[in-house]
Amino acid sequence: MAWKLALIKFKTCCTNTLSSISCCDLCGANVGNSVLVGYSLPQALLCQYCINDLPYFNQNLITGNLLSWPAIHRALPHIHFDQLFALSPYIYPFNKWLGQMKYLGRFELANLFSALLCAQWQAMLMKKAAISIEIRPIDLVISVPLHVNKWQIRGYNQAHLIAKSFAGQLALPYDANVVMRVKNNESQMGKTGSQRRKNLADAFFLQEKLASHIKHVLIIDDVVTTGTTASEISKLLKQAGVETVTLVTVCLTLPNAKKSGVVIPIPLNY
Ligand SMILES: [Zn+2]
Repeated sequence: MAWKLALIKFKTCCTNTLSSISCCDLCGANVGNSVLVGYSLPQALLCQYCINDLPYFNQNLITGNLLSWPAIHRALPHIHFDQLFALSPYIYPFNKWLGQMKYLGRFELANLFSALLCAQWQAMLMKKAAISIEIRPIDLVISVPLHVNKWQIRGYNQAHLIAKSFAGQLALPYDANVVMRVKNNESQMGKTGSQRRKNLADAFFLQEKLASHIKHVLIIDDVVTTGTTASEISKLLKQAGVETVTLVTVCLTLPNAKKSGVVIPIPLNY
């Protein structure tokens, strides 16, 4: 564990050096040391002003769990995960960044997303502890896997990059090989919840036996829409003895938001 902490310190030191010579990805200003909700951010892409101005979900309103917001809970029926933690609605600049990471190979954005997620996550834990809400320790972090064919074509899995960085920053155990995607399904885009569930039936496989102490698993994804993918993985984990599954994602986009009248919680800065 000591070498892990030393490595994290070394990475932070490198990032701080880089940030002193970088320009902000959004406004072009100089990037210096930055903080979010009281936590230092190991990132070299954004200036402090732009970090403050990002459209985060208001974690105070939702007590760190978007499923506690009735409109979100109603919009995600038939899910098998217990908690949902997201950084932002799927809007600018996160939607632009996620597209650039996925299709243009901007890997450095994984560190930015994980730094923002870690800061918000730690602040949420502190708030919960302050009001005596029970916090179950995380036994394992995993990411939503890609099918090997898609991984080979794209060359990387963006959820894995974010998850690895997130777990590294918080010194949590991460395993990229627990869940395997065995069906290379057609795209989920434009499908309803039930169509997605049908499309994803038996798409995942647990390729490692989970240790008996693993009761709380955190799944990381880049974007959640209907939650069907993470839900299918949660079902497998629970069949293997896991009791609590928390889904952590950079963005949440809800299907047919206009049609169903779903109200997105008010972001912090708007
Ligand atoms: Zn800026």
